[in-house]
Amino acid sequence: MDTLIKSLVQANFAPERIIPGALMARYTTFRVGGPADVLVNIASAQEISIALRAAKYAGVPVTVIGNGSNLLVRDGGIRGLVIRIAQPMNEIRQDGNVLRVQAGAALPSVAGFAQRSGLDGLAPLSGIPGTLGGGVIMNAGAYDSDLSQVVTRVDAIALSDGKPLTFEGKHLGFSYRHSAMMDARVVVTEVTLRLTPGDPDAIAARTEELLAARREKQPLDLPSAGSTFKRPEGDFAARLIDAAGLKGLRVGDAQVSEKHAGFIVNLGHASARDILALMDEVKARVLAASGVTLEPEVRILGEDA
Ligand SMILES: Cc1cc2nc3c(=O)[nH]c(=O)nc-3n(C[C@H](O)[C@H](O)[C@H](O)COP(=O)(O)OP(=O)(O)OC[C@H]3O[C@@H](n4cnc5c(N)ncnc54)[C@H](O)[C@@H]3O)c2cc1C
Repeated sequence: MDTLIKSLVQANFAPERIIPGALMARYTTFRVGGPADVLVNIASAQEISIALRAAKYAGVPVTVIGNGSNLLVRDGGIRGLVIRIAQPMNEIRQDGNVLRVQAGAALPSVAGFAQRSGLDGLAPLSGIPGTLGGGVIMNAGAYDSDLSQVVTRVDAIALSDGKPLTFEGKHLGFSYRHSAMMDARVVVTEVTLRLTPGDPDAIAARTEELLAARREKQPLDLPSAGSTFKRPEGDFAARLIDAAGLKGLRVGDAQVSEKHAGFIVNLGHASARDILALMDEVKARVLAASGVTLEPEVRILGEDA
């Protein structure tokens, strides 16, 4: 890793944003995950290119993360370079009904900006605690909306050769919690959203109503990665898990939330191993009870301890 760090520093990457041995538990909302060999906190698209060149030169693999709100990182951590696109890369530019947003901007902040600007379309997504970059990868959504309804263009950089790429129209490839960008091995740098004019007070009222519904139904006081499993065709993972009698089921400090069966929560000292074992148990019991095979919605990264 010395070669990687040296080449980052030589390329003038700000040293305070290079973190060797970064504990991934600090960078994920589940609060689990072992160390990354090196994590860099990115502040500009230019720094992404520098980081990719340095990783290529050092011959190490690259992993991209946003706010870590849909991630389960295994206890052995992540080998190579983790590129984190979050808070420092969060500029929003407005041109009429169109917002051009850097990938690290948080969805709640973008929704707030849109509301204050009298632009409608993001209120249902305002409680999703991820970045816009992570959101377009996942086609994040809630309350019958998802990003596919408002995203018109995604700018990215290819991980393979550092070349800029643009996804538009049908090439965005959005479907339920999936996008073309997820398959393409890219770093998302900027997202263009087309919104519709609306009354700021009405948007604020709707936003507050939906946030209150989340607070009431979801275990927001405990670490989690949101819904653990995808919605199976024609049903809801939470309903199936609840119907199988699994609310409160535990492996170590990993627990199927008592409040919302769709969430696995970390009661304090859960390991990724505990969470994965609980996920396997939930899958097996739901399959036995209902014949439905659940698929993880959380993205699982890294290696075992
Ligand atoms: C309490 C809670 C509630 C949630 N509610 C919802 C909900 O209602 N709806 C919903 O859809 N999700 C929900 N989630 C899950 C999560 O917030 C979303 O999936 C979110 O879009 C992930 O964004 P992120 O920045 O945290 O991405 P990460 O979790 O960091 O990454 C997710 C994926 O995107 C990739 N990625 C991230 N940023 C980039 C980038 N710039 N370029 C390329 N790849 C990138 C990562 O490699 C990974 O594969 C919830 C999570 C929590 C903790």
